[in-house]
Amino acid sequence: MVSRVIPVDDFDLVIFGGTGDLARRKILPGLYRRFCAGQMPETARVIGAARSDHSTEEFRQMVGDAIREFSKKNECEEEGIGAFLDRLDYVQVDARGEGGWDDLKAKMRDDVIKAYYFSVAPSLFGDLAERLMSHRIADPDARIVVEKPFGRDLESARKLNADLARHFAETQIYRIDHYLGKETVQNLMAVRFGNILFEPLWNSQYVDHIQITVAETVGVGGRGEYYDRAGAMRDMVQNHLMQLLCLIAMEPPSRFNPDAVRDEKLKVIRALEPVDHHHIVRGQYEAKGEEPSFREDVGDPRSRTESFVAMRVMISNWRWAGTPFFLRTGKKLRARTSEIAVVFKDAPHSIFGEEAGRHANVLSIRLQPNEGITLKVTIKEPGPGGMRLIDVPLDMSFAEALGEEAEEITDAYERLIMDVIRGNQTLFMRGDEVEAAWAWTDPIIQGWELRSDVPKTYDAYSSGPEDAAMMLHREGRRWREIR
Ligand code: NAD
Repeated sequence: MVSRVIPVDDFDLVIFGGTGDLARRKILPGLYRRFCAGQMPETARVIGAARSDHSTEEFRQMVGDAIREFSKKNECEEEGIGAFLDRLDYVQVDARGEGGWDDLKAKMRDDVIKAYYFSVAPSLFGDLAERLMSHRIADPDARIVVEKPFGRDLESARKLNADLARHFAETQIYRIDHYLGKETVQNLMAVRFGNILFEPLWNSQYVDHIQITVAETVGVGGRGEYYDRAGAMRDMVQNHLMQLLCLIAMEPPSRFNPDAVRDEKLKVIRALEPVDHHHIVRGQYEAKGEEPSFREDVGDPRSRTESFVAMRVMISNWRWAGTPFFLRTGKKLRARTSEIAVVFKDAPHSIFGEEAGRHANVLSIRLQPNEGITLKVTIKEPGPGGMRLIDVPLDMSFAEALGEEAEEITDAYERLIMDVIRGNQTLFMRGDEVEAAWAWTDPIIQGWELRSDVPKTYDAYSSGPEDAAMMLHREGRRWREIR
């Protein structure tokens, strides 16, 4: 199978923060891969814009180094890197000052799609939006792409939305959550809504519970200062886990278009019940051998920020009343894995007797590593000697099922950037979704602050605090293994 690449229309993409970490690790290598795949039109251009003074030649050199370092495959080798770098330009601009904006304006072409990627701190979003308009650089069809974190609470998210809305229509604003760009996340929608098999069972009558796990092995790295102010709840749950929860729980949209999908996601967020503190466990990793503890990593010996959170979430609607959703995410855990598991109820009656044991079907959707979907089904253990039951996986691992094509699975960032150029907002968060997610998250965080909640400790590279295991154990359930 050879994947079809449909070239997008001609564009000028400006990356504010083009010299920063995210641009070098993700955005520019992603664009390079799209270039190699033949998706970038001949004349499309990428303009780096940042505060530091660089010539275009220096910027190209920097991007070439980044591609060699961060692009997994060298699709079009050195020659291709050179050809891609020829598309790049650089302009020095100050988001908070007037310098550089006329130069940027002079570089923009008429009659092509214009997209502006705000890969800078959110405190600069409003300034960039305003200057793009006051210098008449953005036209009414221009798109802006904004990165997380989109606020740190409802109030700041509302302000960011208002700052952007002063200059851009909602249809021009692309709030990126790279989890939505993952192949398997979209496949989750294909599996749910492209088959008749699953949807009739997709409710509290047949689903015992759902687990969403995003486990990382890394600590806070160089982001200690940011992370200590955020914590796992703000950094991961409010955005990534919430988006996954929405896609798994939403009603079928009438069609796969931006507003139909986002309306359904919004309804899920609005139906979330408040979570009381008995149903949340916060954790902080401890030192292991030479490796520092969370508190050492963030440089605050008294930090009460969580590097782990596990919670039981309920959705108040007809489909899900009574089915708990267990969310869990953390740093320095046993393995790097992201997974959604739909655990179905046991068959109502076992004709095979008690000794056959319990065999619940589980549909697991792995986002990383080895993206794929597996359905655990029960069959007879082969051979003579009576009816013994075993569970086997019906495996749809992309690498095996799709062969070479799986090799080409596009990275989330490159897919989403191409969606921006195509003008497709389906996989981007709408302003009201983000605000609703904060409205649900805020009281939880405020509750911790009011109670001066101290996170439980957990061993680095374990499965998290013991209390998280207990939370499920109390109700006769178990977390899936992190591996
Ligand atoms: P960074 O500090 O590495 O880079 C910041 C960039 O902004 C630099 O290019 C800098 O020149 C530019 N900049 C700073 N002040 C400016 C000004 N006044 N005018 C013009 N340009 C200015 O940051 P980063 O890690 O690349 O992150 C960028 C954004 O992406 C942040 O909002 C961050 O939260 C978000 N983000 C980053 C990552 C990541 O892995 N790095 C992941 C998710 C989200």
